[in-house]
Amino acid sequence: MDFLPIFLDIRGQPCLVVGGGEVAARKCALLLRAGARVTVLAPALGAAFDADLAAARIVHRAASFREEDLESYALAIAATSDQNVNRTVAAAARARRIPVNVVDQPALCSFILPSIIERAPLIVAVSSGGASPVLARLLRARLESLIPAGYGRLAALAGAFRDRVKARVRPPERRRFWERVLQGPIAELVFSGREAEAHRVLQATLDDARLAFTGGEVSLVGAGPGDPDLLTFRALRLMQQADVVVYDRLVSRPILDLVRLEAERIYAGKERAQHALPQEDINRLLVRLAREGKRVVRLKGGDPFIFGRGGEEIDTLAAEGIPFQVVPGITAAAGCASYAGIPLTHRDYSQSVVFVTGHMQDGSMNLNWRALAQPHQTIVFYMGLLGVDLLCRELAAHGLPAGTPAALIQAGTTPQQRVLTGTLQTLPGIVQRSDVKAPTLIIIGEVVRLRERLKWFEPAA
Ligand code: SAH
Repeated sequence: MDFLPIFLDIRGQPCLVVGGGEVAARKCALLLRAGARVTVLAPALGAAFDADLAAARIVHRAASFREEDLESYALAIAATSDQNVNRTVAAAARARRIPVNVVDQPALCSFILPSIIERAPLIVAVSSGGASPVLARLLRARLESLIPAGYGRLAALAGAFRDRVKARVRPPERRRFWERVLQGPIAELVFSGREAEAHRVLQATLDDARLAFTGGEVSLVGAGPGDPDLLTFRALRLMQQADVVVYDRLVSRPILDLVRLEAERIYAGKERAQHALPQEDINRLLVRLAREGKRVVRLKGGDPFIFGRGGEEIDTLAAEGIPFQVVPGITAAAGCASYAGIPLTHRDYSQSVVFVTGHMQDGSMNLNWRALAQPHQTIVFYMGLLGVDLLCRELAAHGLPAGTPAALIQAGTTPQQRVLTGTLQTLPGIVQRSDVKAPTLIIIGEVVRLRERLKWFEPAA
């Protein structure tokens, strides 16, 4: 280890930054965040010293550096473009045993500044010891994506309960207690902004004679249209903490592979598939699993609230008093459109977009065709494969030109993605000749024309 990692308390301490450029401004901002009193020594301050920094009341001394200047400081940072000045500052500081950092000159530093991930009060610091700041920053970016934005608030909650837990729970049980708090439903409450509830549940658990964590919870999680890269961080985290996952036919295999290995997997299918559970049974299943104290993830294709019957499922959970949350996902329209190079809106072609279900009842679709068949509007049909004939015909009959461009996207965002394009007039025939399989999405509107220019991703079928 070339450097000792420590976190320094500099609240209220006088700190000196030598230099008036952009880098100096960044160091000032960092010192201010840690509560330091900052003096900047530089002939003039550059544009990077903006109103925010001025408002933070840094002291600017428009002078050049003299060794005696250092006497009254607890810490110094040299950030000038003049190597002689930087060296002088470093030597003077070291002679007085004042911690000094010289930007980009690890050899002159008595301390270096790590790349940080800030979730105050929680801070993760990464350093390559000056060997490769870029590598440290890349690692920082990876960690950034692993650590939920709400971790700071979680740390604050833990801090607020630290003494109470210490008084109530003895080691070694205490560590297990905290592990369950910090990884379970209480943490999820904090991440979704329900801190007051998290406080209540944690207090109730402490008040309980058996320290029992009550009940499970259900997360209705949107898994996106197929490509696992389109999962949200929250979706992935919940999948990796789940005790049981109840999933739909639309959830792709690569996504299921990301579920915690030990989690039980229950296939709930979809209404038209075989062996599918009726909706009422799914609702009851979720309630029963949560009552058993399990962390249940109800994994749904796309977004749970877009043709996903998410509303019905949480209705039952709410009625039964089961804690739940809904995690949005990328809906098929957004995913398929991007991956097929079809912007859903465009200043020149389309100012509105409607998502419609093309699901047929008794061989017909009960839709307001006149409202759909508007110029400058993109229409996206979910579940429209069986009705493609009918919907193209109705839109033409209600005023859309027969030559309006139309596309059908099969298995969008997956390696099996296929895109067929035509017009209201030709698409049904093209679909009939092409051995199309579900899931498919139909996009109708002038924006489909843009695909020829904008398609960028077309995996080999
Ligand atoms: N909640 C989902 C939609 C469920 S309805 C969402 O927000 O995406 C099921 C319909 O979604 C399918 O019939 C199909 O029209 C569409 N769909 C879902 N995934 C798709 C995909 N990868 N490619 C094309 N269409 C898809």
